[in-house]
Amino acid sequence: MAFKLPDLPYAFDALEPYIDAKTMEIHHDKHHAGYTNNLNAAIEGTDLENKSIIEILGNISNESVAVRNNGGGYYNHDLFWKVMAPNAGGAPGGSLGAAITSAFGSFDAFKSEFSKAAATRFGSGWAWLVKNDSGLVVCSTANQDNPLMDIADVKGTPILALDVWEHAYYLHYQNRRPDYISNFWEVVNWAEVAARFDAA
Ligand code: MN
Repeated sequence: MAFKLPDLPYAFDALEPYIDAKTMEIHHDKHHAGYTNNLNAAIEGTDLENKSIIEILGNISNESVAVRNNGGGYYNHDLFWKVMAPNAGGAPGGSLGAAITSAFGSFDAFKSEFSKAAATRFGSGWAWLVKNDSGLVVCSTANQDNPLMDIADVKGTPILALDVWEHAYYLHYQNRRPDYISNFWEVVNWAEVAARFDAA
């Protein structure tokens, strides 16, 4: 039972001008497809074929580097596509908005902390907003690791993700990662993030 590359939930150019169409096409059709194919190759013939990606990531300390990197890549990009949308951005209300204010002091303070986590992650990795027993926490991970992994420093349910690998922005932004991060806020799909917050 192989994992399947999820469709992008909008057109390649839907997030223009903040994320360009060519970047989205290569990112989904080449990078995400690659993680998916390599994950399937890594689990073929093993008992992982019958497990969910959540189960696999939660026990990743017992798995190979190939499963860790490609399982993370498979999951992380699926979440990333879904927490972005055209005509999005703004700020969340409801229970998520209240929880962000409670945890960080204000929405702007949260944005600042998340942006800093994304900007200061050295090399390739991800920034996260995580719901766990402590409430809401911002963190970052290297490579394709994520907070669902049992090896993560900060564990919990990721509800917002930002890919800061150079392949996520270099065609359009070159070395200007901070510009990519500030424009990310224009495409955050807060309805999706709020649904994940309420479900976690
Ligand atoms: Mn990526």
